Amino acid sequence: MPMKNFIQKLISFIFPIVCSSCGADLPPLSQTRICPKCKENLPKIKGLVCQKCGISLPDGGEFCFVCRKNPKEHSFDKMRSVYSYKDNIRKLILNFKYFERTYLSKDFVSDMVETFKSEPAFKDIDLIISVPLNILRRLKRGYNQAQILAEGLSQALGKPQNARILYRKKMTKAQFKLTKQERRENIKDSFYVQNPSLLKNKTILLIDDIATTGATASACAKTLKKAGSKKVFVLTVARD
Ligand SMILES: [Zn+2]
Ligand SMILES: [Zn+2]
Repeated sequence: MPMKNFIQKLISFIFPIVCSSCGADLPPLSQTRICPKCKENLPKIKGLVCQKCGISLPDGGEFCFVCRKNPKEHSFDKMRSVYSYKDNIRKLILNFKYFERTYLSKDFVSDMVETFKSEPAFKDIDLIISVPLNILRRLKRGYNQAQILAEGLSQALGKPQNARILYRKKMTKAQFKLTKQERRENIKDSFYVQNPSLLKNKTILLIDDIATTGATASACAKTLKKAGSKKVFVLTVARD
């Protein structure tokens, strides 16, 4: 057996890498943690989407019902998501977010780069910013999953990112326990900016793992624009 093969076999014996979705063996030193079969089956958002919020529009049209009814519903200029938040992507994101499977960020970032490149408006961004966690939750979890994605994207796209501009206040209740209306009220004034001079006339790419109603991204966009940003685009791994 050639030495290289032997060493690879040894490494995969000591540090086996398996698909995070189905558990199948992956090649030693594999960069991806999702096997090709599982990747293929993830619910990618394809075809026509709302030009504002990026939700899938199976019946076509320019905007979804919400964005058509109230064009000011969202303060961001455009949001795009790679996947619908269901099936296996749901499980993968929960593992990424709450169970320290941060190595999944490589897979998510490469998917996000693809979606980023498919949206012509996104090419003008100046700065990448992640949706912040409040300090207590950040300390409890030990990391901000959106910031890990922002760092990966910054590297992949060759654009700067900065985690010291947008902050979240402490008192925000857990979003998933609230109704849509409560969620909107709760989130509205939850963010603030430090160093607004870094935002002046900048086009921002805002990063999060999941978007549900878009209220969180919208509240961030509103805060960023108030502080001087020209435009705010949003990119998330999944859309609920
Ligand atoms: Zn798999
Ligand atoms: Zn929409």
